[in-house]
Amino acid sequence: MLELSSEWIKKYPKPWVIAGPCSAESLDQMIDVTKSLTTYEIPTIRAGIWKPRTRPNNFEGVGEQGLEWMSQIKDKFRVETAIEVANAQHVELALKYQIDVLWIGARTTVNPFAVQEIADALKGLDIPVLIKNPVNPDLSLWMGAVERIAHAGITKIGAIHRGFSYFRKSKYRNEPVWQIPIELKRNFPNLPLICDPSHIGGSRKMIMEICQKALDLNYDGLMIETHPEPDKALSDAKQQVIPERLYEILTSLVVKQSESHDKEFVTRLEELRKNIDSIDHDLIQTLSSRQRIIKEIGDFKKKNGISILQLDRWKKIINSRPNWGSDLDLSREYIEELYKLIHAESIKIQNEISDPTNSTQTK
Ligand code: PEP
Ligand code: MN
Repeated sequence: MLELSSEWIKKYPKPWVIAGPCSAESLDQMIDVTKSLTTYEIPTIRAGIWKPRTRPNNFEGVGEQGLEWMSQIKDKFRVETAIEVANAQHVELALKYQIDVLWIGARTTVNPFAVQEIADALKGLDIPVLIKNPVNPDLSLWMGAVERIAHAGITKIGAIHRGFSYFRKSKYRNEPVWQIPIELKRNFPNLPLICDPSHIGGSRKMIMEICQKALDLNYDGLMIETHPEPDKALSDAKQQVIPERLYEILTSLVVKQSESHDKEFVTRLEELRKNIDSIDHDLIQTLSSRQRIIKEIGDFKKKNGISILQLDRWKKIINSRPNWGSDLDLSREYIEELYKLIHAESIKIQNEISDPTNSTQTK
């Protein structure tokens, strides 16, 4: 099991805010944005130097001269700088210009060859590396990238949740699928989590609600694209905010504590959780009783040569249960999803029973 540390992130206020433009475009732009951001005490300034664009002939970043600008703002405003690296040469140049924080972009995390190349270039260094989730909703790829960077000896690792590309039409540019970063955290409990609401939302209107959701889930930081003149930005114009708006957003967010030391609260929470444990026991007992009958019906269908899927019966179930739920204040979608899962399991069990190669029959 990979041992990761969360100590390194404690030097930053919670939430750690990393802000700055999608792309470095000019020295003036970088000075302008950093000047405002530092008045709001933002500790780390981001900018893309090489931009991975979906199609060629779009603005692909300013390259090495952008690093020169980053080092100028670092000296002038005493801030930290953060950039995206996608290969070994980027790492080398980032170090040459004393960049403080590196991140691996979503299009790089999908590619283990590229991640390994970066990991090899990072060997022996002690620099924070933030790993964005892969473009596709694949937890293992994200975990794999964390492992590759950790195996290179980097101890300051964080994960950035920037949403996932999805086939479904959605109000998000990249679906957050919050369950995936939650699972990442379950596997690596100490790994700091940073949310990138700009790439999740794809629109500046959505930044605030996504940030709040992330804080409610106890994220450690936020990476928010900020530009002095967002509408003129050369990349991701729609999702960038001006520094003043960033400040407004940050000051309206409610930061919740991850735990309480108030005795009364802790005792009450424990009581309520005991109730939940006991209800979950009952729930599982009930599911098990239901499953016994499912097996009996499976045997019965087999003996009588009847097909497993009975469409009319399934229609009756899926039409009635959401109504029953809704009468008891449970959302219709929730009960519908639950029954789809229950029904899929029942079909699987009855298929096993009817399989002629399967000798373990239920009695
Ligand atoms: C970015 O941060 O500007 C960027 C390119 O992000 P992502 O890798 O999440 O698409
Ligand atoms: Mn961007």
